[in-house]
Amino acid sequence: MKLLSFRGGVHPPHRKKSTESIKVERAKDPATLYIPLQQHIGAPCKAIVNVGDTVKVGQKIGEAQGFVSAPVHSSVSGKVKAIKECPVPGGKGLCVVIENDFANEIHESVVPKGNIDSLTGAEILEIIKEAGIVGMGGATFPMHVKLSPPKDKKIDTVILNGAECEPYLTADHRLMLEKPESVVYGLKAIMKVLNVDKGYIGIEDNKPDAIEAMVKAAEKESNIEVVGLRTKYPQGAEKQLIYACTNREVPSGGLPMEAGVVVNNVATAAQVYESITTGMPLVERITTITGSAITNPNNLLIKIGTTFEEIINQCGGFKEEPGKVIMGGPMMGLTQYTLEVPVTKGGSGILCLNREEATLPEPSNCIRCGKCVDICPAFLQPLFISAHSLKYNFDRAEDYRALDCIECGSCSFICPSKRPLLQSIRVAKREIIAQKRKQSK
Ligand code: SF4
Ligand code: SF4
Repeated sequence: MKLLSFRGGVHPPHRKKSTESIKVERAKDPATLYIPLQQHIGAPCKAIVNVGDTVKVGQKIGEAQGFVSAPVHSSVSGKVKAIKECPVPGGKGLCVVIENDFANEIHESVVPKGNIDSLTGAEILEIIKEAGIVGMGGATFPMHVKLSPPKDKKIDTVILNGAECEPYLTADHRLMLEKPESVVYGLKAIMKVLNVDKGYIGIEDNKPDAIEAMVKAAEKESNIEVVGLRTKYPQGAEKQLIYACTNREVPSGGLPMEAGVVVNNVATAAQVYESITTGMPLVERITTITGSAITNPNNLLIKIGTTFEEIINQCGGFKEEPGKVIMGGPMMGLTQYTLEVPVTKGGSGILCLNREEATLPEPSNCIRCGKCVDICPAFLQPLFISAHSLKYNFDRAEDYRALDCIECGSCSFICPSKRPLLQSIRVAKREIIAQKRKQSK
């Protein structure tokens, strides 16, 4: 199989060995769940249950507010104990707190919705919307919005991201090995929604068993191609994946639809399969629990709303004091300041690093080696964007196309002076966007 790739990128150690061979197990259900009303990009949901109400598995408990939003559902049956601000990944947020009755009673709305052949594209889109499906690779963009491009944008290709290029994470790898048919089914459903007849599933070549499983699952589908990708970070980033699979470039400042492509994660596609065939909305997900500080690394199928603390305890707790606990991978994940945060729709990993691994080296002066420029997959000059950002010169940072940064962290990783380039570039992006918003008012 020919391996495809993109220009730039880095080669961080994979560190996937400790979980890549472990079959997905169902995590034990917790006694109390904290289900955030915002688990997606866009407007938060409005709670549609009250304290004291009884809820069932799959019951809608938060209604989407606006088009760019996604409903949330209960992942257990039980009683609503509170609706209050709780720790969530990224800060604090309104959560529906549910006391689990462990009866696992399924809500009446959870019934099979049909199959790809009997459903129209519009009906599949409505199922996806009502199931609260968002980008499960971490982006959490509401899927029905991605699948509703403006009329003037012609989409002809769907790509599933099975690259899983973040070090440590193996949730997608296990999914592709254990449920490859559900991924293919989900892709076909997405292609039907978009009326597209070309689909790709891109997988890095450090997962040859997953490539083999997906090729077999897709062997009868003449319009679906499984492509091997060179193992390189950030191979799974949208623009890089599109270039690798189709040779098309997404223009500066543009979205994948400008290149006629829609990209989704393999886990998102598998959830589409679940929501069509069983009617169950997005209430659980596979998450990798890993890192030097965890006793028993694992891949677990976790009910949304289960706290990190519960899951870490189920994995034998910490074997040494953690220096950092991250939701997601080490390159783009989000460091957590409490273990009270719940697993959410976008939570692909719980990475527990020991103190030694978590300690960042002291930065020194830029030596103008140019390495950050060589590897930037967005063809930027990170050293200059960062330098202007540090001097609060955000206009100049914009001239250097700061907004095109995909926040992959490759520049910080490669820098021999250990400069926190991404951190300062993020500041510049935030300031430029705030400035633009102010000007447009
Ligand atoms: S500037 Fe942005 S896109 Fe380029 S390497 Fe750094 S984080 Fe990645
Ligand atoms: S990699 Fe680091 S030291 Fe080298 S040019 Fe970029 S910022 Fe400077």
